[in-house]
Amino acid sequence: MLNIDIVPCLQDNYSFVLHDKVTNTVAVVDPSEFEPINNFIKKKLKKIDYIFNTHHHFDHTGGNLELKKKYNPKIIGSAEDEKRIPGIDIKLLDNDAFNFGNVNFNIIHVPGHTSGHICFYSKKEKIIFTGDTLFSLGCGKVFEGTHLQMLNSLSRIKKLPKDTNIYCGHEYTKKNLEFCTKFESGNNFLKEKKNWITLKLNKKEPTIPVTIAEELNTNIFLRCDLLTIKKSLGMENSSEVEIFKKLRDLKDSF
Ligand code: ZN
Ligand code: FE
Repeated sequence: MLNIDIVPCLQDNYSFVLHDKVTNTVAVVDPSEFEPINNFIKKKLKKIDYIFNTHHHFDHTGGNLELKKKYNPKIIGSAEDEKRIPGIDIKLLDNDAFNFGNVNFNIIHVPGHTSGHICFYSKKEKIIFTGDTLFSLGCGKVFEGTHLQMLNSLSRIKKLPKDTNIYCGHEYTKKNLEFCTKFESGNNFLKEKKNWITLKLNKKEPTIPVTIAEELNTNIFLRCDLLTIKKSLGMENSSEVEIFKKLRDLKDSF
């Protein structure tokens, strides 16, 4: 079984340290910066075997080169982004699989936020690292792809087993909740979630991981096909992708 530690970085980023205790294999997912990761690693694990990058943005790869210099990990990222991911060694594509210690990971290509964005998914461990594609109660901005691509990417994540734990790249949950509530004020799951988020943040704890099941009940970006959402936007006759685009545009200026 994998041990997962959440390491806060920069303003609101999360990096993750994975440790397969059976084989003593260590990975860091999306090291935003060197310092916090190094402080964590030098205390106990003392090594990094792999870095997993979900996408090329600096707040997910900023620590790559310095960590590589000190610990010499193999850096894994999308083959599409081989020119944009600093220090990349292992270039993977959609549906590729690789072993991390005793744990098998699959790559899910999720274009939209960036064209080469990937998720790291382990069916056995019931975990997925979604970077800036799916957040708790939100999704990433559409920078390099189309809204249809982003919607399709989110749909692939939606179809994973409902007890899959989502580890995303940012602590945006509180603000995301405000947005979801604005358009779905009658959703009781959101009301419950609000109390839980406040409790967590008051204790300075992350609001992740969350399960796919929880997100399906609360994340408005995963609910664009529901008539209730369409009605609350006054867009009853619009398609799912039109609703998604409308919500993404509204969120961009929220
Ligand atoms: Zn990003
Ligand atoms: Fe980011």
